Amino acid sequence: MSDKYEAVIGLEVHAQLKTETKIFCGCSAEFGNEPNSNVCPVCLGHPGVLPVLNKKVVDFSILMGLATQSTINQKSIFARKNYFYPDLPKGYQISQFELPICEFGKIEIEKSNGEKKEITIKRIHMEEDAGKSIHDQGDETLVDVNRCGVPLIEIVSEPDMRTPEEAYLYLSKLKRILTYLDICDGNMEEGSLRCDANISIRKKGATELGTRTEVKNMNSFRNVERALQYEIERQIEALENGEGIVQQTLLWNADKNEAVPMRGKEEAHDYRYFPEPDLMPVEISNDWIEEIQSALPELPNEKLNRFMTQFNLSQYDAEFLTASRGVADYYENIVENTSDYKSASNWMMGEIAFTLKENKIEIEKLSIPPENIGKLIELINGKTISGKIAKEVFAKMLESRKPPEKIVEEENLAQITDSSAIENVVEQVLNDNPKQVEQYKSGKESVIGFFVGQVMRATQGKANPQLVNQLLREKLQS
Ligand code: ADP
Ligand code: MG
Ligand code: ZN
Repeated sequence: MSDKYEAVIGLEVHAQLKTETKIFCGCSAEFGNEPNSNVCPVCLGHPGVLPVLNKKVVDFSILMGLATQSTINQKSIFARKNYFYPDLPKGYQISQFELPICEFGKIEIEKSNGEKKEITIKRIHMEEDAGKSIHDQGDETLVDVNRCGVPLIEIVSEPDMRTPEEAYLYLSKLKRILTYLDICDGNMEEGSLRCDANISIRKKGATELGTRTEVKNMNSFRNVERALQYEIERQIEALENGEGIVQQTLLWNADKNEAVPMRGKEEAHDYRYFPEPDLMPVEISNDWIEEIQSALPELPNEKLNRFMTQFNLSQYDAEFLTASRGVADYYENIVENTSDYKSASNWMMGEIAFTLKENKIEIEKLSIPPENIGKLIELINGKTISGKIAKEVFAKMLESRKPPEKIVEEENLAQITDSSAIENVVEQVLNDNPKQVEQYKSGKESVIGFFVGQVMRATQGKANPQLVNQLLREKLQS
């Protein structure tokens, strides 16, 4: 970005809540069912029906409010947002407008240079989702209304972010909180987390906001970052050319790496909001808030700090291990079986991460029970096996679910620590390689590595390396 300008970014994030049923009726909120099967007169907007608020939606919204240190409004109001669209059978969406359930929250991000920054949350409100228009199956547009009435919270930030990186970090943090609370699966590809990015440019040092545009349709965090970068550059160029910025909505096209304006007409929104007459204001008692407060799990930042102190880990390791609740739980189960916290972390970031990536699975699907990783680490530290053999045992654990000590026993993988057994092999190797022995004696000490390799090979990697080294030096010196 040029030095003359700075970007101003505010994000509106829709998170689909993990409730069993929809927000105003008893229909299943499950994703991926037969199109138009999860419907009833309420979510189809038939005349004469009445919505009934799902209490879980309020519970989850309060949870998110508390997790972001928001004010919980003890009285909030649903509103009708009117617009016409084929996937919206009622002709309006029930949302919240003037009085949302939560306001004035905050989320802390930490930038790559270590600097911490607080992003203010303007509001969190409850609303229902619309249906889905499907344009990519044949010539016609198909409509699936299963999603009508699926509960969402919309989390609106203040325009506090200044770079695409900050937006990326804010979104990652938001997702971490939502998944820790277990109220949203956070899957952006499947649309359970959606982000609209508002962006404007202003001269550095200016205090007034510039005219903003809104970019939609990004299906990954990286695409949000790319779309913002693109739009910042486009706006700067427009300003430099004296064209000015037109307030409009753009759609991100990830394949072409560009944002395309939506048609102007669709832009002229007039939602004619008014209070929803079929629903009472939502009143939340102190007891209700306290009940949710007591159910609040440990949050990402708290867990991160605890991991650093309790397990004496670096920030880097702790960040990795608290990326999701599943990963953190797995780690904590490993260290119930070993106090070598750093090795446990190394296994998580090494072999385990690699296996998950290779098989495209989440840690919950890993076939090795975490206690077996703890036992494996103990086998290495107790010198029963070498680190190299441990990798072999790990591979076998993936296949069999057997505990490591059983595999070591059955496959005869235990380290040879009996020095007379190793001594025989050492002598054999020295006899077989007189040339290298000469080299060593004439001062080329590095051939020791060659001898170690030969001994390890002869013992299938099972000889204790320290012992091998020691015996080799003894023999060569004599
Ligand atoms: P609206 O009611 O039109 O949706 P809001 O005031 O609720 O507008 O803002 C929507 C989002 O746009 C918020 O995330 C806010 O931070 C962001 N925003 C508002 N003005 C600007 C601006 N000039 N530049 C960048 N972002 C902005
Ligand atoms: Mg808005
Ligand atoms: Zn329904």
